[in-house]
Amino acid sequence: MTVLVFLDPAHDGGRVADASMPQLMATDLGATRGDGIFESLLALNGEARKVQAHLDRLASSARALDLDLPSEDAWRRAITTALDEYAAGARVQADTELAVKLMVTRGVEGADAPTAWVQVAPVPAKTRQQRRDGLAVLFLERGYDSTVAQRAPWLLMGAKTLSYAVNMAAVRYARAHDADDVIFTSSDGKVLEGPTSTVLLAKVRDGVKTLLTPQLESGILPGTSQSALFTVAKAAGWELGYGPLVPADLYDADGVWLISSIRLLAPVNSLDGQSITTTPELTRELSELVAKIS
Ligand code: PLP
Repeated sequence: MTVLVFLDPAHDGGRVADASMPQLMATDLGATRGDGIFESLLALNGEARKVQAHLDRLASSARALDLDLPSEDAWRRAITTALDEYAAGARVQADTELAVKLMVTRGVEGADAPTAWVQVAPVPAKTRQQRRDGLAVLFLERGYDSTVAQRAPWLLMGAKTLSYAVNMAAVRYARAHDADDVIFTSSDGKVLEGPTSTVLLAKVRDGVKTLLTPQLESGILPGTSQSALFTVAKAAGWELGYGPLVPADLYDADGVWLISSIRLLAPVNSLDGQSITTTPELTRELSELVAKIS
């Protein structure tokens, strides 16, 4: 079941729409140019997680694209409407996981008003399975160097735009080559991010546990899950570090994971076909920390 709620000033809390019927104009710039932004967040037991962090990143993406956004209050109420609507139409149990998408486009050509909606649908079983079974990952070139974001703001490097065709093509390329997912590298050889995730690695040396992730200045999306995990990990005694990282750092680590709001923490089992060690105890410990994030 999929629920849609359009943010519409004429409807307090949003307007529920039939997901089995056409709802967008064919001239919407989101469809014709991929001109828009989005967020994906997880709802557990009917409660959306990290809502403020996602609204903050949505606002930051909107600034990068010079897009008008509905108010935070309108988003929060539309999310509640969508989750209530889902619960009214399907059984929501304690372990029901829902993917909540916040979508904004530049709107219909010539109308000068954004189109904004919330979509709620179940998290696919395969996504949940990857948390358990882990991932075979390929390094693929992104084609930019790691300093391009500062030189070329029009590339929208740190924004979560609707132009994800390249990211999805990278995942299809991985699947066609006996892998599950991808870690992008820059043309100057730095580790960047996954097409839908942040890269995380752990090192344990002389009893000191350190969590590392690529630095934001390399043009990656600031991950809300990585950021929240770093906060709880620090409180639990972990040291924290930010790149630059190169592929050799990942081969040398005691654990490598891809982390994101919907899939949460998925251990990496191999890189470019070479097995790596991702210690199950570390995966367990970090997964428990991820579960504490709300
Ligand atoms: N990087 C990219 C390119 C993504 O698309 C995502 C999430 O979809 C992430 C990182 C992880 O972000 P978050 O943890 O906020 O879901």
